[in-house]
Amino acid sequence: MHSDFPLPDIDWEPTSEFWAGAARGQLLITRCDLCGRYVWYPEPPCRHCGGTRLSWTRMSGRWTLFSWCVLRHAWIPQFAEQLPFVSGLVALDEDPAVRVVSYIVDCPIESLRCDAPLRVVFRPLRYPGVAREVIAPLFAPAAEP
Ligand SMILES: [Zn+2]
Repeated sequence: MHSDFPLPDIDWEPTSEFWAGAARGQLLITRCDLCGRYVWYPEPPCRHCGGTRLSWTRMSGRWTLFSWCVLRHAWIPQFAEQLPFVSGLVALDEDPAVRVVSYIVDCPIESLRCDAPLRVVFRPLRYPGVAREVIAPLFAPAAEP
């Protein structure tokens, strides 16, 4: 565990580019250089073809809500101030098999529903007792098409 827990470790090589992209307001997912499919978690080999080279690719920012849970108890003390909050599993529009876990924000809990369209927003993660912050991709309701 690093000293800024529960912030993500943005220097860990397999995901450092993901966090660098978020700091620039870009959501990046890896894509296989050999077969062109998206690969998440971002570690080779490609689950589809075994390719060993992945390239970070900027996504559209359109996602759908696959599943979620509402956290009402702070299992870790640093989360107490933000209760209740929603942790969601969101599916990428370009390939719904690619799913990312993040906060769902700007949405009343009672309005959450499966397959709701979401858009990515970039906000700082801040926790009590941790001086640093990290810009992270979070997900908010998108306007219905
Ligand atoms: Zn591949």
